[in-house]
Amino acid sequence: MQQATPPHRNITALILAGGAASRMGGCAKALQAFGTSTLLETILQRLQPQVAHIAINANQQLAEHARFGYPVWPDQQSELLGPLAGVATGLAQCKTEFLLTVPCDSPFLPLDLVAKLYATMQQAECDLVSVCSREADGSLQQHPVFCLLRPSLAPHLHAYLSAGGRKFSHWWRDLRVALVEFDDAQAFRNLNTRQELQAAQPIMINSSIHLPFDFSKQAGYIPDNLPLSVAQDILRQHCPRERASETLALREALGRVLAADICANTPVPAHDNSAMDGFALMSSDLATNLVTDLATDLANHGARRLQVIGSALAGHPFSGTMQAGQCLRIMTGAVVPAQCDTVIPHENVVSSSEHEIVIAPNSVKPGANRRKRGEDLAQGALAIAKGTLLQPAQIGMLASLGYSEAPVYQRLRVGFFSTGDELRPLGSELGTGMLYDSNRYSLHALLSKLGCVVSDLGIVEDQPAAIRAALEQARGQVDVVLTSGGMAGGDADFTRKMMQELGDVHFWQLKMRPGRPFAFGRMQDKNAAQTYLFGLPGNPVALMISFYMLVRPALLQMMGVQHSALPILQVAAKHAIRKAPGRHEFQRGIIHSDADGASRVSLTGAQGSAMLSSMSHANCLLALPPEMGDIAEGEFVPVILLDGLQ
Ligand code: AMP
Ligand code: MG
Repeated sequence: MQQATPPHRNITALILAGGAASRMGGCAKALQAFGTSTLLETILQRLQPQVAHIAINANQQLAEHARFGYPVWPDQQSELLGPLAGVATGLAQCKTEFLLTVPCDSPFLPLDLVAKLYATMQQAECDLVSVCSREADGSLQQHPVFCLLRPSLAPHLHAYLSAGGRKFSHWWRDLRVALVEFDDAQAFRNLNTRQELQAAQPIMINSSIHLPFDFSKQAGYIPDNLPLSVAQDILRQHCPRERASETLALREALGRVLAADICANTPVPAHDNSAMDGFALMSSDLATNLVTDLATDLANHGARRLQVIGSALAGHPFSGTMQAGQCLRIMTGAVVPAQCDTVIPHENVVSSSEHEIVIAPNSVKPGANRRKRGEDLAQGALAIAKGTLLQPAQIGMLASLGYSEAPVYQRLRVGFFSTGDELRPLGSELGTGMLYDSNRYSLHALLSKLGCVVSDLGIVEDQPAAIRAALEQARGQVDVVLTSGGMAGGDADFTRKMMQELGDVHFWQLKMRPGRPFAFGRMQDKNAAQTYLFGLPGNPVALMISFYMLVRPALLQMMGVQHSALPILQVAAKHAIRKAPGRHEFQRGIIHSDADGASRVSLTGAQGSAMLSSMSHANCLLALPPEMGDIAEGEFVPVILLDGLQ
């Protein structure tokens, strides 16, 4: 994929949208829905990185065309004369050295259109450069509406139109025209009817439009000194959010991400039921003066005697009717009959026999111990939102609603490899200066815990061809590739170079420790399938921290998870901690519960970014923000718990 080049300043692109749209049901063609927006927006997105100036030639619904902030130039003639009239208008209005015209109904126009036409214009002595493509049968097809031309042609075109001419090819007869051949004929096809627009949508959604990444407008974007929060924002904005879904049996869905909102199709609970073992009664009975001849103290409080007429058990509701002064023996979970509004637990009853109970009314609160129908979830209420990672509680919730299956997103396919000539696989001898490749094992574990489909691409030599081959192998086969090592830009660090050759990849130096070098980008295969790339540093702790802070949230987002922010706790430092202000530091810590009941955090010891023991002894990370300096004993520090970190 080509790297981003700045848009051409001396070219104005004119989108020709002036037709009558007779085959589009009256709505201007450029404004027709397409993909997730409109034809016009799609074409604007493809032109914006290529040219600094854009205008739209339209003759109806001018305000709607102007909504995108670009000038709208209607034809200067009152009658509609076809696209050449739009070109004439463009030539007359254009203030730049060249005018580029494109039709409004070719949403696949190439991202290197301007670069190629302009290069030819510079080389060939010509008035106009246009486009042709090689068709499947080998013939050349011209696409004259795509052309780059000089505004000095305005009088010539005006004369041609005034003489009744309407065709590009005729007008060109006495001009010096160069044609540039493009390989992809599909890029120039135009969509003339609603049916064609409709049919083109799936192609558009699958192959989608992938402009080169441009992070330059991101506040605080300094690639070689990048705040972690800016890097996280970029990943949030540029990693995809959803993927295809599938339906799984409920037990298979643990650890997967829900692909649709789940609502309660019945109220939960479905009936009023008892929260206690005891007696179901009508609180109105407590107000009437039922006679009691119990002991004086009880009489003084006005004890009540109620007749027990039956019982209700879980799964065995009471089916009779009840009168005033009657009650039911009831068990937890049993349906509370409609006449009853209150349950008194056994232990609050003064005395009971098979047929009657005596209660002290001030021991009963009307409405107590009755779980109301729908109090957990009203019918139709949202039970679990799309994008929720299904944990045991959600699996139980789905079952309680009667779902035996769950719609979930397909698992993310993640491949990874380690680079480094010093690395040896487990089971081999370690020569001098060699070490075991631990990163592939950490990565395998991290990714498995996230529920990804993991492919281990092995150890790759520090050789450009080997790294290139590994990336090519992964391209299009997995959704994401993670690499370990070779990010720093040293002599043997070819990962960077190869990533750059194969994809649209950006290298950052983060204001973070450990984990300063990092790469993010993507490459696409010939079917435009996208593989996202994350280049991680080789130091084992740096790799894990970069994974937790950058890759993990990005992967969760790609898996369809809506909320992946980790809770941050404030815990008192058990001892003073050194911290350099100006960068994020992730020190490895242990939270202890001390004898006084308070929790305090201490460091795991030496914090070198190669020392995996500092990580494996830790139960938390101290997430120390850039503004923080040295920390005194007792000071509260932000902490992320590692235990349970997905
Ligand atoms: P690099 O990022 O390639 O410059 O590597 C930085 C340091 O991390 C070097 O000391 C490497 O030996 C070490 N390292 C790189 N990759 C791995 C790995 N897969 N497992 C363990 N250590 C590694
Ligand atoms: Mg290396």
